[in-house]
Amino acid sequence: MALLVQKYGGTSVGSVERIEAVADRVLKHKQQGDDIVVVVSAMSGETNRLIELAKSVQATPDAREMDVLLSTGEQVTIALLSMALMKRGLLAKSYTGSQVRITTDNAHGKARIQDIDTEAMKSDLAEGNVLVVAGFQGADELGNITTLGRGGSDTTGVALAAALKADECQIYTDVDGVYTTDPRVVDSARRLEKITFEEMLEMASLGSKVLQIRAVEFAGKYQVPLRVLSSFTEGEGTLITTDGEQSMEQPAVSGIAFNRDEAKLTIKGVPDVPGMASKILGSISDANVEVDMIVQNVSIDGTTDFTFTVHRNDFEKASKELHAVAADLGAKEVLQDDKIAKVSIVGVGMRSHAGVASSMFKALAQESINIQLISTSEIKVSVIIDEKYMELAVRALHSAFKLNEPDAGVSEA
Ligand code: ADP
Ligand code: ASP
Ligand code: MG
Repeated sequence: MALLVQKYGGTSVGSVERIEAVADRVLKHKQQGDDIVVVVSAMSGETNRLIELAKSVQATPDAREMDVLLSTGEQVTIALLSMALMKRGLLAKSYTGSQVRITTDNAHGKARIQDIDTEAMKSDLAEGNVLVVAGFQGADELGNITTLGRGGSDTTGVALAAALKADECQIYTDVDGVYTTDPRVVDSARRLEKITFEEMLEMASLGSKVLQIRAVEFAGKYQVPLRVLSSFTEGEGTLITTDGEQSMEQPAVSGIAFNRDEAKLTIKGVPDVPGMASKILGSISDANVEVDMIVQNVSIDGTTDFTFTVHRNDFEKASKELHAVAADLGAKEVLQDDKIAKVSIVGVGMRSHAGVASSMFKALAQESINIQLISTSEIKVSVIIDEKYMELAVRALHSAFKLNEPDAGVSEA
């Protein structure tokens, strides 16, 4: 008998039929003798609908009221699923985030979990209940409803699994595991049997939204066995683990991530004297804008160019700040581009394979794709390119690194 936390995403509970299918799956596990805590998202499209609704009333909706509104999506699905479970003769009980005592800080819209009180849950489980918990939400210590950021039900699932010391946290979604890249973009993408926490964290933070970044962080920190599976089909899915996909030799590249969430800004002709980077980036961070990639060019004529990327949502704010800084520093001009994409190759095997970055650049050159910025770490290489070539780049890299083949990547691309 195992204790499983099963999280079902929006598409998996997107209709009454899908909720019934989830109830059947839970019933099956329950009949096998497992204790089950289910975490559900809002029905697909519902959170977006609520956001639009709010914006139609208040252009920049109040953060506290926004969380009150957004948390209703998950409240609908916990009740419906509990009813579907009861219809099948199971004992079931729904819980909102505050009822299950998920305490968060008060950062509305991106709250972080501080504590989970498991006492009530444990006694309900001992009585044979299936617990159905609303994902994505909690309450601060004053009882204000908070939400955990888009995709946050994954984090609720992992956090409950950690707090309850569950045997496994199963993330049920509309794909049957973690693939070498988004299977919606590359048909030949291959499901991975295993992927390391480290790689999954990079994939998630570089744009693969199959798991929310914080859920992976949480699982890594508390060593929660985490699996991504399909709620539509049967299968083993992908296990997120400490040792990854073991083959004779670790492939250099395990996956490709991409996103269109960034925008690029350049300040040209900045005096090449100490303190400039701090002035420029200081003003950006004072405006509460996070910077991702940063490149400073070599000095020509005693001036230098400085380029960085920010989240596209912060583009206008960053641009305004940068124009002000440019005037202040006597810089020549500001250039900006929000039609960019970031494409990244990820793999722990890169540590032991030389020339991975150059293979990547070669594959992009063969498709005549211009690289605008590059950043690397031990286990990833990211490039910024023109947004219109993003899918072409992902496909070219997927085939260059032979990711459709199980033991790919051992020979250089
Ligand atoms: P849910 O609503 O169940 O939380 P999401 O839409 O958040 O589901 O995440 C699942 C989606 O993630 C898939 O439909 C797929 O298009 C996308 N995705 C992106 N990268 C990957 C990847 N490497 N492997 C699998 N799915 C991926
Ligand atoms: N419903 C929320 C969202 O759409 C949380 C989630 O689905 O994980 O982001
Ligand atoms: Mg999701």
